[in-house]
Amino acid sequence: MLQSPLNETTSPSRPRLPITGWKFCNSYAALPARFFARLDPVAVGDPRLIKFNGALATELGLEWQSLDEGTLAAIFSGNAVPVGADPIATAYAGHQFGQFVPQLGDGRALLLGEVIGRDGTRRDIQLKGTGRTPFSRSGDGRAALGPVLREYLVSESMHSLGIATTRSLAAVTTGEPVFRGARLPGAVVTRVAASHVRVGTFEYFAARGDAEAVRCLADYVIDRHYPELKSADRPYVELLAAVVRRQAALIAGWMGVGFIHGVMNTDNTAISGETIDFGPCAFMDGYDPATVFSSIDSYGRYAYGNQPAVAQWNMARFAETLLTLIDSDTQRAVDIASPVVNSFREHFEACWIARLRRKIGLVTSEEGDSACVGELLELMQRTGADYTLTFRRLCDAAAATAEAAATAEAILGASPPIELAQWIGTWRSRLERDPQAPGDRARAMRLVNPAYIPRNHRVEAMLAAATEREDFGPFEEMLQVLSRPYEQQPGRESYLAPPLPSERVLQTFCGT
Ligand code: AMP
Ligand code: MG
Repeated sequence: MLQSPLNETTSPSRPRLPITGWKFCNSYAALPARFFARLDPVAVGDPRLIKFNGALATELGLEWQSLDEGTLAAIFSGNAVPVGADPIATAYAGHQFGQFVPQLGDGRALLLGEVIGRDGTRRDIQLKGTGRTPFSRSGDGRAALGPVLREYLVSESMHSLGIATTRSLAAVTTGEPVFRGARLPGAVVTRVAASHVRVGTFEYFAARGDAEAVRCLADYVIDRHYPELKSADRPYVELLAAVVRRQAALIAGWMGVGFIHGVMNTDNTAISGETIDFGPCAFMDGYDPATVFSSIDSYGRYAYGNQPAVAQWNMARFAETLLTLIDSDTQRAVDIASPVVNSFREHFEACWIARLRRKIGLVTSEEGDSACVGELLELMQRTGADYTLTFRRLCDAAAATAEAAATAEAILGASPPIELAQWIGTWRSRLERDPQAPGDRARAMRLVNPAYIPRNHRVEAMLAAATEREDFGPFEEMLQVLSRPYEQQPGRESYLAPPLPSERVLQTFCGT
């Protein structure tokens, strides 16, 4: 049996800061001691508040109007621990690029505690970059400013795009350097999540043969995320099915906006169905399913077009951890779980084609729709057309009556391939068999085809301004633009543009 790094955890020593109106309600910290290590953040030298998400704080039911910047910086750097918080580093394992690592865990993050928001939802507040924990292995427990701002910006952008995701509540610089090849400013990001339970959390206990912990975790997850399953005849099979469905919907959402997660390891797969861990993630510019940005993904395992298959593979790893709960006879358990895992494909395809239909302006469905969008995508791939811009221009084309050739030019620029004009002809005749009025159709299409995504070249320029010149203006402006991704924003045209060849970003780094 694998050993756990968790000895008797020490009790926290730091005095607590009373904050009026903050009420923690910590359920994960009440699970068995082997689920986490209890410890306080390691204090930093000179915390400064870069960004605080007041609107999210309000949603979480946190009173903040009377807190000054210094207090917010102290709280969100980990220097001041609020009364009621119970900081823990959670234990998890994970398959990283296909290889099982039996022990990962929060090596640089601490779950401060949970709060119940105004909508009644329980959510985790986690500080990332707070120093070493028993899970740090050889790491320093810290985070650099660049990755912190990337996580803040991209997670908030995903939320505005309408995709299930963890959120960002604050970003703080620590006043201390971190070393990642170069000396970089250190920072802490505060992440808000439905929970931090991952496929890797289940794997951690399953790999240790700790069936009791797996059951306890499964019951916890059902209680917290899937309470409707409590009375199901086979709650653990249903849990697997529900997680599979949420993953399928999530990945279809990613694909619809051209998002590439970059590190779809099982420790970065949240059981809640939220997008989690914005490391070397990026949005695709020119459409190509083989697109990879992550510097650590040499074989393209997590390429844009591989994401559905990888998510299904991750669901198979999840299913394996549940086998002992599904049936005492392993073969019988496998026979029950396999079709559930395999149903991922069907759920994904259903979500994906539904999304594609909306992207091209259809509310009805016909047999040939899939092939019709397939043809457009194939054309886009062949011409290197920008994924976001092409669909956005198609919204305008849905409301216009210009000839097919002129429309093709409006979409792809001068001398588009002849096939595009032909495709537009086919598309238009299909639209005639769909009941929406052109104006309504264009409006509906603009609600699923974003104008603004966090384009990599803009993200990289924003990160350079922040880390090299302490200029947070571009970060603030980008955040604002991306908070309304589906609305045309006059004066923000530069954010619509794909990169020039010289601006193209070929690689992203997780900076860990
Ligand atoms: P991530 O790439 O952020 O998903 O992290 C994968 C694993 O590496 C997790 O267990 C992290 O806690 C750990 N890790 C990443 N960066 C650091 C760091 N700087 N110090 C300690 N642990 C880290
Ligand atoms: Mg991770």
